[in-house]
Amino acid sequence: MGMFDTFYGEVTCPHCGEIHEFEEQTKQYDCLLEEFRIGDYVERGNSNYILKFEWFCDKDRNKRFDIGIAFYKGQIVKFLVNKEIETTNPESLDNIEDGLGKRLIYEKTCRGADGIPKEKLEYELNPLTEEYKFTAFGVEWEVIRLYRQKEGFLSKDMEYYYEVKSKEHGMRIMYASNRFRDSGMAIYTLEHCNEYRSLYFDE
Ligand SMILES: [Zn+2]
Repeated sequence: MGMFDTFYGEVTCPHCGEIHEFEEQTKQYDCLLEEFRIGDYVERGNSNYILKFEWFCDKDRNKRFDIGIAFYKGQIVKFLVNKEIETTNPESLDNIEDGLGKRLIYEKTCRGADGIPKEKLEYELNPLTEEYKFTAFGVEWEVIRLYRQKEGFLSKDMEYYYEVKSKEHGMRIMYASNRFRDSGMAIYTLEHCNEYRSLYFDE
């Protein structure tokens, strides 16, 4: 088993015309288990080239097609499909906004208020009291109640689950743990929590 870097993106499927997500793992780069999206700089070098791999239609996995990830000066600048891979000269491309894909993903996370926010909630503040207010995804949240607490999955530290609400998004489950080193918390919808019942709810 080796380590992989992973490329994520979206292309229009040449078979059904819908947008499909793809994911390509490679051992070619630094292999620090990094995730790369459009707009990310993968290497410091100046190289312009296309990384080609095979993908499939989401509706029929037997329908294959080729995807090309185009790099310009080490940055992922474009996703190509089938013939575009042959007809595109990577030297003729241009750089784009640094981190574009990650910005778009985070904006989507903020719109749905479902994921890990950029704001920080100090782990040491737990357990939070009812009516405690904090900011996440750019809006204000209020703690309704401590839902449950249990020993951490990876460490002996406690993990705290709260019911929280915001004017903009309504009810969510907020999960506070120092496992989320940067933000100290994650906020999930009930639908998300229902997918992993044993994590979030006492049966
Ligand atoms: Zn398709």
